[in-house]
Amino acid sequence: MSGIFALLVQAVIYFMVMGTIFFRRKTIGIGVFFCLLGTMHFLETYLAAVFFVELPFGLISPGSTVIFTGKLAFFLLLYIKEDAEVIRQPIYGLLSGNILMIALGLVLRFYADPASLPGYNADLRFIDQIGLLMIWGTILLFADLILLVILYERLGALVTNTVPGRIFISLSIVLSFDQLFFFVSLHLLAGVPASALYGGWIAKMGAAGFFSLMLTAYLRFLERTPVAIPAQGAADVFDRLTYRHRYEKLVERIGRDALTGLQDRGQFDAKGAALLQAATQSDLSVSLMMIDIDHFKAINDQYGHVEGDRVLREVAAMIAGAKRAADELFRYGGEEFALLCPETPPGAGAMAERIRTAVSDSQKPALGRSVTISVGIATFPADASDFRGLLLKADAALYEAKKMGRNRVVSASASLSRPTA
Ligand code: GH3
Ligand code: MG
Ligand code: MG
Repeated sequence: MSGIFALLVQAVIYFMVMGTIFFRRKTIGIGVFFCLLGTMHFLETYLAAVFFVELPFGLISPGSTVIFTGKLAFFLLLYIKEDAEVIRQPIYGLLSGNILMIALGLVLRFYADPASLPGYNADLRFIDQIGLLMIWGTILLFADLILLVILYERLGALVTNTVPGRIFISLSIVLSFDQLFFFVSLHLLAGVPASALYGGWIAKMGAAGFFSLMLTAYLRFLERTPVAIPAQGAADVFDRLTYRHRYEKLVERIGRDALTGLQDRGQFDAKGAALLQAATQSDLSVSLMMIDIDHFKAINDQYGHVEGDRVLREVAAMIAGAKRAADELFRYGGEEFALLCPETPPGAGAMAERIRTAVSDSQKPALGRSVTISVGIATFPADASDFRGLLLKADAALYEAKKMGRNRVVSASASLSRPTA
């Protein structure tokens, strides 16, 4: 019984200390928790090879059972509270740390003889074993964690949707997998007897039960988590295990205007130039529409900026709804939009007219009237031979539309004196 008692005391202490440091990660930094994991990793490998605990029914368990199960449990907690990208950091740290450790150990083994001290005999067998065991353990850990995340996500949809159930099932499957593979190396390298395989497995299942309950309590009482994690396919989980997903999202957001969600000015400059270049090569035309909301300042002045923002978003949405799929819409700045339209066969003017009426026909109940826009159009290559020239021409046409009374479309090619509306 004393063996079980010792493991239980270990589990309680382990959970209390690791849980506290994890809980405080926002104030003291996640690095403290990671260092703790790294330190435990060393002890765990050491205990797995040299210290066995007696359990009832003649079973024995490696002394590392609790620390290893706890480590997986905390990795799972890390995944639940942070993200798959965060759990990669300690794994890479552990892996490189282990390789460095072996390299440094080998330097001593090859280039230095242990000094002979009276009454002391260095046991070099251990230094030879532990490095390999640790590297193998970390590689396995890598596989364990991917499996853990996938199981946790998949089981939500398949087996059970209770938090302790999901944690226990995913932990116990991964622990069984790891036990089998790590034991083979223990057996070969350190000569650990087969009875430790079953004993260790049973002890780990017990520890998995303990940590599942502790984690559930943690998630419930210390850091509440929205439990309904969307069920994902395995492919999605792998996707989350890489940085690509987030990176792409970030890149996507970088080019977006925060208020309207449209592409921003930077995107306009980049895409406009690229579109013109492509049009040159394929002998196609591109029309640029500069769109400006009429008397927008008056809307701001009369109804306030919050309402002004709402109108901006609505007009953006209306233009987006009226344009063709291939047209690219941007917020050029303030209350001005730019629309790049590749190849507009019936004439860009007709299309702009459609957009103009879509906006002016929609009544704004809050304002008690409609909002109107003015549009200036220039077409490449008829009106200008480069992007800058095109912008100047479209801008001049817009200015003309304003001068002529607003709520109208003016084309640069129709000569500035002849409006289309
Ligand atoms: P015009 O018909 O000649 O275009 O008149 P206008 O009032 O629309 O033009 P003006 O350029 O004088 O004013 C544009 C206004 O747009 C001024 C600015 O405060 C407002 N504005 C620019 N960006 C934003 C924004 O993001 N939100 C809000 N609410 N207002 C904005
Ligand atoms: Mg305006
Ligand atoms: Mg303006």
